[in-house]
Amino acid sequence: QAKGGDKGTWQRYRPELHTEMVKRLETRAALHEAIEDDQLRVMYQPIVDLHSGEIVAVESLVRWQHPTRGLLGPYHFIEVAEESGVIVEIGGWVLREALAQLAAWRAADPATTLRYVSVNVSARQFRTPGFVDQVRRAIADAGARPEWLLLEITESLLLRDADQVAADLRTLRALGVRIAIDDFGTGYSSLSYLRQMPVDVLKVDKSFIDDILGSEQQRALVDAIVTLARNLDLTVVAEGIEDAGQRAALAGMGCPYGQGYLFSKPVWPGEIPALAHAMVPSPARA
Ligand code: C2E
Ligand code: MG
Ligand code: MG
Ligand code: MG
Repeated sequence: QAKGGDKGTWQRYRPELHTEMVKRLETRAALHEAIEDDQLRVMYQPIVDLHSGEIVAVESLVRWQHPTRGLLGPYHFIEVAEESGVIVEIGGWVLREALAQLAAWRAADPATTLRYVSVNVSARQFRTPGFVDQVRRAIADAGARPEWLLLEITESLLLRDADQVAADLRTLRALGVRIAIDDFGTGYSSLSYLRQMPVDVLKVDKSFIDDILGSEQQRALVDAIVTLARNLDLTVVAEGIEDAGQRAALAGMGCPYGQGYLFSKPVWPGEIPALAHAMVPSPARA
């Protein structure tokens, strides 16, 4: 038991905090091996046209096939990866993997409905010198086209060094790469960045969608975001759609795209072609 009371900053010893810290240190060390030993995987979640039901794209979502802890989702390691900086390598790997995967799907089925892959980019990764070149090279190496790539950034990226970030976004845009604001509505930044930043897509956070049927306020908020996006010439993807009622409400507001468990959870790459094929709208199949 350590020093307590009003004098110092000592905390009573709490074994669960110690365990947590040890786990983070272990995770940090093991993440370097994860990359070298090929333990990272990518799952893909369909992004769907809410009117036709067609799968127009997929989002890449990283997983860690840990040798002893099993398959881990991002919540188990992304934060540690950010802190230690290894997120830069992880993100670069996911980017190359996702572009190569989309190129493979398109080569296997020239009539595929998959138009792009959406890739999450952490603020730290985006700010790493040479990021734009890394993207350019990843596209070329995969034999992909810039239009096949949508980069998902978060509002927090836009808070610091806005001029530099805007310049890099413009360079990416000039290449033909598109940019989305992920988890839109949950950040602290002011809406004015939407005028200054070259952004193409708003991804409305799941927390706004969750209660869209139960709460009049929530529905009004999402409706306002969809209208704002339309007026600014941005497209919208609603995240975390779990039931048909939510989908219908969103489609009724004119929200064009969505993703969520209603359509599909994230799946392994081998499952995507069959899913995409099954969801081709009936007129096109005839
Ligand atoms: P995100 O980018 O907002 O991705 C959406 C998350 O919501 C995914 O969780 C997805 O599986 C989950 N989701 C989708 N639809 C539903 C639904 O209907 N219900 C529920 N309950 N959840 C749904 P996941 O795969 O665990 O990823 C969590 C977060 O980790 C991502 O949130 C993203 O911020 C981060 N992440 C994932 N992959 C990467 C990556 O390659 N790089 C970086 N920097 N971050 C990543
Ligand atoms: Mg995302
Ligand atoms: Mg998101
Ligand atoms: Mg989210």
